[in-house]
Amino acid sequence: MSAAAQERREPVTIVGAGLAGTLLATLLAGRGHAVRIFERLSDMRHSAIPAGRSINLALAARGIRALELAGVMDRVRPLLIPMPGRMLHANDGALTFVPYGQDEHEVIYSVSRPDLNRILIDAAERAGVDIRFRTAAVGADIRHHSLVLRDEASGRLEECPLKRVIAADGAGSMVRRALVSELEVLASEDLLKHGYKELRLPPGAGGIHQIEKHALHVWPRGGFMLIALPNVDGSFTVTLFLPHQGEESFASLSEPARITQFFRRHFPDVCAMLPALTDEFLLHPTGIMGTVRCERWSVEDRLLLIGDAAHAITPFHGQGMNCAFEDCRELLAMLDTTSDWADAFRRFEQIRRPQTNAIADMAIENYLEMRDTVREPQFHLQRALSLELERRFPQRFVPRYSMVMFHDEIPYAIALERGRIQNKILAQLTRNVSTIGAIDFQAAQRMIEERLTPIS
Ligand SMILES: Cc1cc2nc3c(=O)[nH]c(=O)nc-3n(C[C@H](O)[C@H](O)[C@H](O)COP(=O)(O)OP(=O)(O)OC[C@H]3O[C@@H](n4cnc5c(N)ncnc54)[C@H](O)[C@@H]3O)c2cc1C
Repeated sequence: MSAAAQERREPVTIVGAGLAGTLLATLLAGRGHAVRIFERLSDMRHSAIPAGRSINLALAARGIRALELAGVMDRVRPLLIPMPGRMLHANDGALTFVPYGQDEHEVIYSVSRPDLNRILIDAAERAGVDIRFRTAAVGADIRHHSLVLRDEASGRLEECPLKRVIAADGAGSMVRRALVSELEVLASEDLLKHGYKELRLPPGAGGIHQIEKHALHVWPRGGFMLIALPNVDGSFTVTLFLPHQGEESFASLSEPARITQFFRRHFPDVCAMLPALTDEFLLHPTGIMGTVRCERWSVEDRLLLIGDAAHAITPFHGQGMNCAFEDCRELLAMLDTTSDWADAFRRFEQIRRPQTNAIADMAIENYLEMRDTVREPQFHLQRALSLELERRFPQRFVPRYSMVMFHDEIPYAIALERGRIQNKILAQLTRNVSTIGAIDFQAAQRMIEERLTPIS
């Protein structure tokens, strides 16, 4: 170990062995810190995963960059299924493939959450991290600098010093709630009126995928939508996003006949491929989604919230995990520039908050696009035009989706800001126009050069 790494051996405690906690632990251990993690659940490498809980995720550039930094991509790569675009399923069964990017490099990847988490737990242990499973953080006495833990097997309580504690305990973070109540920090948990339900579309004969494997499937239906992401075993995880209450809602789909009728009416093509539809629908939990904003993430060098604990977002841009991984990389970068943890925590918070606010807003906007706007011809014209403008003016015009998913060097807040300007340009150029051939590219060039600075 280098002398610099030796100097950094201050112990660090992480709450939560989820995606961010394990990645951060691996990175910190690699820098010479003595890291331990307390995880409420048992070790997922030896236990079954509860059905119906976010089985697979879309991994993109920001997440990949952080996984590469931790040296785990060699193990993650075989789990990935490239998804070069969205496959839209119309009510009449017509299919439209909409590419996400310019070429085969601009793709996102479907990855199994439990498999990824298992790899990250392994990596953390190999890096020397001490993981204590079935040990939940149950209280944090911020003023008296102590974290209270409970051994879930015996119920025994113990205390640990609240010093360099990093809370990666997810959207419902106990540690965040302690911070909020003890220091009267302002925080909001804006729950969506829509929930989600996961179902399994099994493999076909011979284990093959029954619908196009290399796509993120979307059945946009205006007020609600169904999506499907491929799994390596030939199955798909299908997720229904639907209002909790109302005429067509989770509340109204309470019995088998109504569930079948709803699926036959809105998703006839996929309905026949879901043999366990009603059983799974009634058995699997209905998930809640929301945006967490917290005005403070850190306390001196004692405590820092990270990942969903600090800034959970809705899943519609496929960025929650990617953003949490970027948090880990950014925190590490801060710690490379200072040995003062309070300073690193404070700067991390200052730099990350505008970014996480931006992706939270874009995630909500993307929900409307996925469930509704994608059905309009104008959407497809503007989408094709944005890719064409990127080909013609790559230094200045990059579609917002691409900035978020493929350009980890472009901060989320810049993507949001440039995306708004680009939307206005697209709207102006496509007014009273229905084909790319009819676009005035000279006007496009003028607008782009006037309104968009080159991307640095
Ligand atoms: C339906 C859905 C789809 C999604 N799709 C995507 C996607 O496609 N792409 C993407 O990037 N993101 C996606 N996300 C978001 C992603 O799941 C989260 O952003 C990501 O899991 C955040 O990682 P985390 O480590 O902060 O939290 P988590 O992964 O939730 O980990 C928290 C960990 O802390 C543990 N824990 C909780 N409380 C305690 C406690 N008191 N004591 C000890 N341990 C505790 C938990 O058991 C867990 O292991 C999706 C989310 C949902 C709900």
